[in-house]
Amino acid sequence: MKKSHTALAAVACLLAVSVPSAQEGIQRGAAQTNQNKWNAKGPWGKTERSGPLEAQRKDPFKLFDNVYYVGLQTVSAYLVTTSAGPVLIDSGYAPTADWLVDSVRKAGFDPATIKYVFVTHAHLDHAGGAARIKQLSGARVALSAEDWDVVEKQQANPQQQQNFPKLPRDLVLKDGEAVTVGDTTFTFYLTPGHTPGAMSVEFQAKDRGRSYRVIEPGGLGLQYAPEFGPAFKKSIERLKQLGPWDVAIGNHPFLAPKDLAEIEAELPRRGQGPHPAVLGRARIDRFFDDVLGIVNEKLVVEPPPSR
Ligand SMILES: [Zn+2]
Repeated sequence: MKKSHTALAAVACLLAVSVPSAQEGIQRGAAQTNQNKWNAKGPWGKTERSGPLEAQRKDPFKLFDNVYYVGLQTVSAYLVTTSAGPVLIDSGYAPTADWLVDSVRKAGFDPATIKYVFVTHAHLDHAGGAARIKQLSGARVALSAEDWDVVEKQQANPQQQQNFPKLPRDLVLKDGEAVTVGDTTFTFYLTPGHTPGAMSVEFQAKDRGRSYRVIEPGGLGLQYAPEFGPAFKKSIERLKQLGPWDVAIGNHPFLAPKDLAEIEAELPRRGQGPHPAVLGRARIDRFFDDVLGIVNEKLVVEPPPSR
């Protein structure tokens, strides 16, 4: 197991930036270089996006009354406002951390007031920016123990140190743990597979006086090593069982039942209509079922090694 954890960490995220070139923009679906074949089959197969760091900058937008998208073109970060100050879910790459900081400012908040950075998993595109946020704000940075191990291994690897700036182990999240920040509670579920300690986050999103139950899965990328198949399957089944969910948002904009780009485009023209991210149980359950279908197929084609 240990060996494969290291391998998994080295492979990094499904959208880890491959050889950046200044001319290249964001690529979609099959146009991406080396799209993983299982992700290609995923519900996000056609809208999956990747690209070099230079093409990643993105303007923030208000997703809910208490949730702002402050992430990149292909990697999500959300700012959730609370009565005790804002918290971040994920922090982008180390080299893009100041873009995230700018987005927080553009959204109308002072980055120095960020209270927590909840990191969904230990890959460089989610955890890399956390050190910079902590430096600016003193925010507490939280991961699972399993993924802190991965982060620390990367920090100790000279070739990874620019992707994982020094960040001492801070808050360690346990399965089922709730962290209350002012008027908002975040509940964490250990959902391993994409990484050994991927953490899914539950919280409430507010819209026009109503409150919605949100899940952000900790890692849905399907390029995991075969030995992680059973754990990944259990995690997806659990995420579905923990429902019903009103909203499911991705730690990449497309890793969700509805692409965030679509939601962003629909928001300004919703009028008195329903919130475009509130999809409800049937659609979100169907999404998890679709993912499970591919996970099961992968388990047959790439079975976990027998001991
Ligand atoms: Zn990842």
